[in-house]
Amino acid sequence: GHRPYIIGNWKMNGTRNSLAEARAIDRVAAKWPQVRVGIAPPHTLIHAMRDAVDSIDVGGQDCHSEETGAYTGDISASMLKDAGASFAILGHSERRQYHGETNPQVKAKSEAALAAGLNVILCVGETEEQRDAGTAEATVTRQLLACLPDVGNGDEGEPVSARLAVAYEPIWAIGTGRVPSLDDINAMHDAIRAKLCEAFGDNGAEVRILYGGSVKAENALEILGCPEVGGALVGGASLTNESFGAIIIAA
Ligand code: 13P
Repeated sequence: GHRPYIIGNWKMNGTRNSLAEARAIDRVAAKWPQVRVGIAPPHTLIHAMRDAVDSIDVGGQDCHSEETGAYTGDISASMLKDAGASFAILGHSERRQYHGETNPQVKAKSEAALAAGLNVILCVGETEEQRDAGTAEATVTRQLLACLPDVGNGDEGEPVSARLAVAYEPIWAIGTGRVPSLDDINAMHDAIRAKLCEAFGDNGAEVRILYGGSVKAENALEILGCPEVGGALVGGASLTNESFGAIIIAA
């Protein structure tokens, strides 16, 4: 029953010049209110982007689990919120790979983000080796259960299930142009849904499950047509209005 949620993860791309692109994307989003749109720019652009757009959510790509402290280079969830973010992407495979983030850290970050009033996009996904070995579902569901926040409620008073989305991003599909078969996407999203219902009871049905990995306008419609796919987390194709706007329209 949710409208599809299409989130752009700009990764380490974008300077103030890119705000014109965000404004163009915002105009498309304003025209298609049946689609919910978000962009997670680099931290340096969050505040300016929030001021520049009206119809899209702006979020962060990571946050620290502590609120303040001697953590040079890090940013807390309340700082993201203060800069104008409404959500944080957490546990992205690039954070896990290049910054050594572990499941317990991702869980702590998720709890900190919810406590600060941010919505959470929690990323999980298997490697190609795990897919080939037939352990993709076991890997992803183990990761999910280890990262799910324990907290009951953040300061918004809504149930956590309404403020959490899970993004299934097979690592081998990120930036490669390869996507799983629709059967494999369906099977994984079903497995994630089953775990969410174990964790949250009836509310588990409310948690949005996004697909990420080489989503573009040409494949968005069929992927979003999968029954348990509630949206998409888009990397490369989210950087320009030409490609991201086309995905929003396709959705
Ligand atoms: P691509 O869309 O570039 O494959 O990236 C996916 C991703 O990692 C989004 O978080």
